Amino acid sequence: KGEQQPLRILFFPFLTPGHLIPAADMAALFAARGVKCTILTTPVNAGVIRLAVDRANEASRGTEDALSIDIAVVPFPDVGLPPGVESVPALNFDADGDKFFRAIQLLRESFDRFLTQNRTDAVVSDSFFDWSVDAAAEHGVPRLAFLGTSLFARACSDCTVRHNPVEAAPEDPDAPVLLPGLPHRVEMRRSQMMEPKKRPEHWAFHQRLNAADQRSYGEVFNSFHELEPEYVDHYTTTLGRRAWLVGPVAFASKDLATRGADDGLSPDADGCLRWLDTKPAGSVAYVSFGTLSRFSPPELRELARGLDLSGKDFVWVVGGADAEESEWMPDGFAELLARGERGLVIRGWAPQMLILNHAAVGGFVTHCGWNSTLEAVSAGVPMVTWPRYADQFYNEKLVVELLKVGVGVGSTDYASKLEARRVIGGDVVAEAIGRVMGDGEGAEAIRERARVLGEKARSAGEKGGSSYDDVGRLMDELMAR
Ligand code: UDP
Repeated sequence: KGEQQPLRILFFPFLTPGHLIPAADMAALFAARGVKCTILTTPVNAGVIRLAVDRANEASRGTEDALSIDIAVVPFPDVGLPPGVESVPALNFDADGDKFFRAIQLLRESFDRFLTQNRTDAVVSDSFFDWSVDAAAEHGVPRLAFLGTSLFARACSDCTVRHNPVEAAPEDPDAPVLLPGLPHRVEMRRSQMMEPKKRPEHWAFHQRLNAADQRSYGEVFNSFHELEPEYVDHYTTTLGRRAWLVGPVAFASKDLATRGADDGLSPDADGCLRWLDTKPAGSVAYVSFGTLSRFSPPELRELARGLDLSGKDFVWVVGGADAEESEWMPDGFAELLARGERGLVIRGWAPQMLILNHAAVGGFVTHCGWNSTLEAVSAGVPMVTWPRYADQFYNEKLVVELLKVGVGVGSTDYASKLEARRVIGGDVVAEAIGRVMGDGEGAEAIRERARVLGEKARSAGEKGGSSYDDVGRLMDELMAR
């Protein structure tokens, strides 16, 4: 590109780890291609970003100069939240959700100031910042939306906005809801969907974000063409939207050699990895539900029972907000853990990429958060799916029915209060683990498909791969503007 000025892209992720991490990873991908990247965020969230950026630099050391990624730290707006409460996991949603979303609106002032003071060629901002499409337009800067999910989930969600199939379905929570107009027959249960009438504000918000995404220059996805080709086609050709698929982004900063014990977040990480070293290939189930999902004590008890019943070894990351062990551990489980052979329970941050890519891990019990799902896909690890809310039920559909690299535990109850959730029995959990990690022919086929998909995921990001090319195409297009 010779004398040309480098492209400058501003990344502005929503304030939760599941959006901050992929944004930092994405910035690392673009920075590695010569783009000058800035990530705009608030003081506490800057910590998460800094870790990811440091890892990305570590990963590229020796081959290139330090990646050009700046972090623009702006104050979290004063809306009366306790100091330090700046992200979704730190939030008491029922009490303070409204305040938090007011702060999200107020961030516009800092965003505007940044664009006034810094030449910027494009903004990649989170779908949750729907106002950023207009704010960017006022500065003459194209806005690319980042929703952090699959195109499949995106297409499903779009379909609900256009057709509202939930309202047409019978009232029964188990009633099937057919999503029309998609490349496959996609049938959900009513209890797995957002209810427009019961949650009108939630629904209106959903519609508003969707409209803002449509008015944007286009959308970038943490996905890759080979994963969901029909949905890329559906989205771009049928719906006429513009999409660039640049994933899986997780390899950018989560360099497998450097991520883990030294990140200061995982006191147990080292021990966990050494423990995995002692286990045969494919023998261990990794169990984790991301940064936001909480489980009730009865659910945790049944899950513990299920892990025991499965006969498989396990590493289980119990959520920081979940109840104390004494409130849910079934009889004998503490003793089983104390023996140290069958399983480990970790509290706090686990080095997920290292664990998933460890040869000993043969299955992932997951809530189907999109980052976790794609990390499992990239690692070639089949899944036991246990979605809780949001896009997770769609991601489960993709994993279990379209890609056929997972088995569900039969989760329903979109957005139910924790206490109201149906408790899934330990025997059901154990059976699902067996259907993914066991000796049966079906399980072997699932594992083989997962392995093949993992290879495709890795190739997508390599030079000449589909995601590598999409990054280049987007850069060329922005450059030409
Ligand atoms: N993660 C991790 N260690 C943990 C918990 C989460 O590394 O102990 C990472 C995980 O690898 C993923 C992200 O945090 O990149 C969680 O995002 P996801 O979309 O899976 O779920 P969410 O937390 O947003 O529900």
